This record gives sequence, C-alpha cells and structure tokens, in this order.
Amino acid sequence: KSGFVSIVGRPNVGKSTLLNRLVGQKIAIMSDKAQTTRNKIQGIYTTDDEQIVFIDTPGIHKPKHRLGDFMVETALSTFNEVDVVLFLVNVAEKRGAGDNYIIDKLKYVESPVFLVLNKIDQVHPDELLPIIEDYNKQMEFAEIVPISAMEGNNVDHLVDTIRNYL
Ligand code: GDP
Ligand code: MG
Repeated sequence: KSGFVSIVGRPNVGKSTLLNRLVGQKIAIMSDKAQTTRNKIQGIYTTDDEQIVFIDTPGIHKPKHRLGDFMVETALSTFNEVDVVLFLVNVAEKRGAGDNYIIDKLKYVESPVFLVLNKIDQVHPDELLPIIEDYNKQMEFAEIVPISAMEGNNVDHLVDTIRNYL
C-alpha cells in the first residue's frame, strides 16, 4: 500500500514530534525549503510493502495580508489530493481561535479528515470524552484518534487506521 497524508494544526500541537515518531530512524526526506513551498514533504513511513508520505502543511493560520490568503488557499487545495488529512490538536489546551479557523477550512475538504488528539499524557482519561464531544459539534470527522506523539502512545493504532483509507 502507499498513500499521502497531510498534517495540519496550529503551532506547537506536536506536528513535528509526530512526524519524527512516525518516520523514526527511517528518515527518507527532510525538506528544509522555506515556507514558500506548496507542500513540504516531511517524511516517508516505509515498511517492506508500504510507503506513506507525510506532508506538513505550512501556513494554515489566519492570514494578515492577501499573499497569506493565497498561501492558505494553495495549502487547502492540496487537502483534496491526499488520502487522509490529520488535524492535530493539543488536548491539554482549550480549543482556540487558531483551531476554529482551521476547522472552518476543513469542513469543505473532500478527503477524510481525522481528528488527532495529541498530548493525552497531559490529561486525565476522564477529560477526553468532553473534549471529543466539543470537537464533534464543530464538524464531522472520519476518525478520532487520541495519541501521545511524545511518548508514542497509540501512534501504531493511528497508522493502522490510516491504512484503512489507502
Ligand atoms: P509543532 O509546532 O506542531 O510542530 O509542535 P512540536 O512537535 O514542535 O511540539 C511542540 C511542543 O510540544 C514540544 O515541546 C514537544 O516536545 C511537545 N509535545 C509534542 N507532542 C507531545 C505529547 O504527546 N505530549 C507532551 N506532553 N508534549 C508533546
Ligand atoms: Mg513543527
């Protein structure tokens, strides 16, 4: 199997940590191109019989000028060309304006969008359900997967779930 996965989320939610965890020692490509690139291939998850390309999406935040607006639209258009979009949030923080801005854009994406609740090591398990209910009211997600990118909890399950969409 092979496929393409975009990762989106506001700064500091753990996108890079997840990418490093996924790609691990098997780093194939680490792009150091500036934010002007349309897509940034961050890493390729490979096993003997599969290859999943993870793409970090630069610039999805409320633009301050028209060029920024163009960059957001460009990044968004790529979401319809991938197999899965991972929307990463930090469960240890309240849903904020940055998350809401991204959700408003994701509502119009045709590809399956996963809600990935990161940093579960920072909250009590009982806190997860209300957080999930809150996000579910905002939009419908194809899958909801809680993980800790830092500790590696449930990251294998995330990859398994992605596989179902390739
Ligand atoms: P990015 O801006 O979305 O790429 O976020 P980073 O991957 O750079 O992570 C931002 C901060 O959150 C770093 O200090 C990470 O160590 C931390 N972080 C990332 N994932 C986790 C997690 O699962 N649990 C905890 N406790 N911290 C995390
Ligand atoms: Mg990063």
